[in-house]
Amino acid sequence: MKDSITQILKKDELSRNDIVRLLASEGEERLQLFTESERVKKENSGNKVYYRGLVEFSNICDKDCYYCGIRRGNKEVERYNLSDKEILDAARYAYENKYGSVVLQSGELSNPAFTRRVTRLLEGIKKLSNGELGITISLGEQSRQTYREWFEAGAHRYLLRIEASNPELYSKLHPNDELHDFHSRLNCLKLLRETGYQTGTGVMIGLPFQSVDDLAGDLLFMKETDIDMVGMGPYIEHASTPLKKYKNELLPLEERFDLSLKMIAILRIMMKDINIAAATALQAIDPMGREKAIKIGANVIMPNITPGMYRDSYNLYENKPCTDDSADDCKGCLDARLSMVNAEPAYGEWGDSKHFYRRQKIKGKR
Ligand code: SAH
Repeated sequence: MKDSITQILKKDELSRNDIVRLLASEGEERLQLFTESERVKKENSGNKVYYRGLVEFSNICDKDCYYCGIRRGNKEVERYNLSDKEILDAARYAYENKYGSVVLQSGELSNPAFTRRVTRLLEGIKKLSNGELGITISLGEQSRQTYREWFEAGAHRYLLRIEASNPELYSKLHPNDELHDFHSRLNCLKLLRETGYQTGTGVMIGLPFQSVDDLAGDLLFMKETDIDMVGMGPYIEHASTPLKKYKNELLPLEERFDLSLKMIAILRIMMKDINIAAATALQAIDPMGREKAIKIGANVIMPNITPGMYRDSYNLYENKPCTDDSADDCKGCLDARLSMVNAEPAYGEWGDSKHFYRRQKIKGKR
């Protein structure tokens, strides 16, 4: 006989089959999953939610990923690049409003001028905040030297989504060339870890060609790579991308949303002390999407502090929320929404991954 959800939720290690069962749970069983993940989250991080002020500083990208609205081949998007002053002003806003941390994200570029510019910005952010702002970066695949240079300039967390951990699925979502090689991306995660970053990854959920078994594999991948942080959310089609032609084969948006919540809940049970972000894409489907994710397991939220006039152009997917808001609108709105799910913003804290420090300690003892 198959294990019941109650039995599965008592196990120390979840198998691929257990995860598939949890992803397929409905009704009472689904609620059991969420009750357990909420319990695990409370036990490990209480009601605290860490803020990361997100600056999407440029949508200029050398890559051509088939799902992404800012891919190089999309000629319809207006390209922008914030000035250094605009980026530093956004970081100052985060500092003055006690966000604790910022995230710098952009399209993927890899050249010496870009590397140096980011180094300068990191140093600038450290300076304007007296070293107090934590910095996460999400700037794609780079060389070991570049990762080191940015680490030394003050970035201490790096987010690089593997996007899909099954190489076969990955190859259907990207051009088949050197710039989009699964193994290079994987190797970058290893380099980031070796450099000393708290390392984050993630996937999209509800992609064309993706099975529930692939999703179970994604969670096992995160566990096996012993990742420190995860950001994952629903795939949302974008009109000017090659994957758009599969739109009729996708799960309905509400199902992609629900699968994303289940992925977060299961991961929270599997990896109790990592940081899990409530992805913005959740909010594109459900206005309370991120708060729902916080309730059942996520503990990080990334309020957008990109100057409003640029937000429209960082459209990775359709229906991206809050693109006409200013940073101030976001802040008041978020605090109120979080209180609805009994969560409290941890103002002024870095909110590092506990998992990272536990691993360091174990390493130190060896
Ligand atoms: N260039 C950076 C990050 C920028 S995009 C890098 O390569 O890491 C940030 C994330 O948005 C991507 O990692 C991807 O997972 C997500 N994304 C892109 N297109 C999307 C879509 N159509 N639906 C949902 N998420 C998408």
